Amino acid sequence: MSSVNADNLNKYLMKATKSILFTAKRPDIVMERGKGMYLWDTRGKKYLDFLGGWAVTCLGHCPEVISEALKNQSQLLVNASPAFYNKPMIQFAELLTNISCFDRAFFASSGAEANEGAIKLARKYGSKHLNGAYEIITTVNGFHGRTLATMSATGKKQWDALFEPKVSGFKHVPINDLDAILACVNSNTCAVMLEPVQGEGGVYSLDMEYIKNLRKLCDDNGILLIFDEIQTGIGRTGKMFAYEHFNIEPDIMTLAKGIGGGFPLSAMLAKEKLNVFDLGDQGGTYCGQPLAMAVGYAVVNEVINKKLPENALIQGQYIIDRLNEIKDKYALTNIRGMGLLIAFDLPSEKGSVLVSECLREGLIINSPRLSTIRLIPPLIVTKNETDMMMDMLCSVLDN
Ligand code: PLP
Repeated sequence: MSSVNADNLNKYLMKATKSILFTAKRPDIVMERGKGMYLWDTRGKKYLDFLGGWAVTCLGHCPEVISEALKNQSQLLVNASPAFYNKPMIQFAELLTNISCFDRAFFASSGAEANEGAIKLARKYGSKHLNGAYEIITTVNGFHGRTLATMSATGKKQWDALFEPKVSGFKHVPINDLDAILACVNSNTCAVMLEPVQGEGGVYSLDMEYIKNLRKLCDDNGILLIFDEIQTGIGRTGKMFAYEHFNIEPDIMTLAKGIGGGFPLSAMLAKEKLNVFDLGDQGGTYCGQPLAMAVGYAVVNEVINKKLPENALIQGQYIIDRLNEIKDKYALTNIRGMGLLIAFDLPSEKGSVLVSECLREGLIINSPRLSTIRLIPPLIVTKNETDMMMDMLCSVLDN
């Protein structure tokens, strides 16, 4: 599709609304291409992207390393089936286990699939080593995906009545409340699963002391600690993995989003004691798919080589400083975040209005809750681009 005029755009939109199953409310534009921090729609309008495909395009849009990895791997091997090892799968598993505290990697395509794998692994461990324990404690406002099990694990109030009956065996507790977890632990408990910073829930971080005590609670009770780092992993919070901020090691960690830089890819990493699946327990046609493995390997190496976690820290602090400069003028509150996972609250529940108005201005941001705005730009963002974002944001807020 090349650049189109307004009439043609309307035709595309009519076709889209007729042929695509409704699941999302999308604006009346069609995205056509991207480069670095920018996207362009089919009319040629340019957008500064502070959403990064929902914390996905960590290297920006269409980075050279992804094109190269796809080109090279597609000429060698696209798919040999998960019945065989392939070279990039082995390289990538070795890289991830070398740079983390984990020993084993399982690969899939989406975050929900990685979490589904983590839930199954925890239950398998429970059945083999914890007298059949199967319950997993998760958090209120936590988000773990949209498969039936991960929706059940998710602590979103709006989902409570959806798609009944839910997968049973999940208990939800508020974050940073150790007593609430203690009250739920019993002989059926096999794991606690949470995000180190709740992303979709509005960017709320776990307390340092809470995590330290939670690790101890899990150890004392012989249960597993699972970190969902699908949004926080791969440099987003200023360290390669958010667990590193807390000086603890989870037993299982899930990754997606940034790990593929935009390509569908996820991983579940686990400690050696969790190498407990029996043949046939877990898998899938695209687990360890060579194209995805080659892309993931290239993306993670680029994040390391370009020191992007450090950039996330520096740029994240700059965004927070700039937001603090305007907070009184626009009554913004609760400016918060870690690295380049940032949010603030508006004085009223007009998050989606602000998002639409910013889009019109050529700025892409996001509103995970009615009065919350979230900024999750690519990890390559510069001060210059933050200044441009701030100018656009202020101009919209002025109106
Ligand atoms: N877990 C967390 C923390 C997420 O932020 C998301 C997506 O936003 C998911 C899981 C689900 O990932 P996916 O949409 O790739 O299935």
